[in-house]
Amino acid sequence: MLNSDIIQRDLSVLWHPCTQMKDHETIPLLPIRRGEGVWLEDFEGKRYIDAVSSWWVNLFGHAHPRINAAIREQLESLEHLILAGCTHEPVVALSERLVDITPSGLSRCFYADNGSAAVEVALKMSFHYWHNQGLSRKKRFVALQKGYHGETLGALAVGDVALYKNVYAPLLIDTLMAPSPAGCYAADGESYEAFARRQFEEMAALLAQHADELAAVIVEPLVQGAGGMRMYHPVYLSLLREACDHYNVHLIADEIAVGFGRTGTLFACEQAQITPDFLCLSKGITSGYLPLSVVLTNEEIYQAFYDDYLNLSGFFHSHSYTGNPLACRAALATLDIFAEENVIEKNRELAQVMDEATRGLRDHPHVGEVRQQGMILAIEMVKNKGSREAYPWQERRGLRFYQHALKRGALLRPLGDVIYFMPPYVITPEEIHQLAEIALEGIDIATG
Ligand code: PMP
Repeated sequence: MLNSDIIQRDLSVLWHPCTQMKDHETIPLLPIRRGEGVWLEDFEGKRYIDAVSSWWVNLFGHAHPRINAAIREQLESLEHLILAGCTHEPVVALSERLVDITPSGLSRCFYADNGSAAVEVALKMSFHYWHNQGLSRKKRFVALQKGYHGETLGALAVGDVALYKNVYAPLLIDTLMAPSPAGCYAADGESYEAFARRQFEEMAALLAQHADELAAVIVEPLVQGAGGMRMYHPVYLSLLREACDHYNVHLIADEIAVGFGRTGTLFACEQAQITPDFLCLSKGITSGYLPLSVVLTNEEIYQAFYDDYLNLSGFFHSHSYTGNPLACRAALATLDIFAEENVIEKNRELAQVMDEATRGLRDHPHVGEVRQQGMILAIEMVKNKGSREAYPWQERRGLRFYQHALKRGALLRPLGDVIYFMPPYVITPEEIHQLAEIALEGIDIATG
């Protein structure tokens, strides 16, 4: 089969996610036949580095022998089971291990099957906790400008990416927005830390003013991903934890994108030494093999729902594929790799290579900022370096970059004009240099 055959069949029956389908009249789909490690291969044998980890999910490369084997083995005994009223070994073992490795105090795991669903669980649980305490007026949420938490209506309501959100605004719950602490907005010469502290003042004011009606604050710790890989200093999280405690408001940490080592520590919250009231995990949890998500919370919150059935205070939320055994087995294999292969340490070296390989880009006349947090590196293309003025979005410079990168054998899918590397952890230093080279060429072409 040729690339063109599968593309033609696709375009007559599919509707792709996050896509203006008309684009595919001129921009070909990328048809992939197989994957191995960081490499994807199309139907005609051309290879591409998966530099975005297939939407940030893949941790250890495609077709990883150890994860493949774990799923195969599980397949022989139990493929799926209803998790209400039933249980199975993979979900119990995974929960034990998650409780063990996440920030201390998180003791209960509630499963769902994708990131947005986990965010819905956390929002509902937070509201419901206060409701069970007789505080039903605590029903609003605070979120960050430029944040992203998924596409379902609750998750969309606490997000702030205009392209995804604006048209649905009439359907969404009213959320309070605090300014982004991301250092890319800092004044000239102002440090990321100073800026985060300054931005926190408005968050603190919102909490002080609305504490009575607030259920929770939700944030993406350290990196605002879909909003453009915007990074901020951990002091913001420490201040937020303190303030949430002070005002009796929950803190929801959405580590769906940043969890499992992306930011340089297993979980981003570790860098601020905080424990959130709810920790949402998904994506990398199964190394990008199968859909799974989980919300971890503490015993106090769990106990607020633990009651006689007739009081109807339980958390009656469910998804059919909650805690799927195959997915849990993939997650356990993922945690085994972390435990045995010194991943976080090795990533430190790769992160260093990413930094060194992109040094040359910093002085590019159309690069506003190169920023990095662990294994995430972002390059912001701008029209004017001095003023950081952006290109008009209608020019779709990121798309030009994307097309060039594909030609050169890299799947690099910018967020607007922000190019980023978020590769599987099995990428080699040579491959990182290759990406940097492609990025430099691509930026020249996209901004030329
Ligand atoms: N939260 C964050 C921080 C995310 O990056 C994403 C996905 N990009 C989600 C939530 C939603 O996850 P899903 O796409 O699995 O619904």
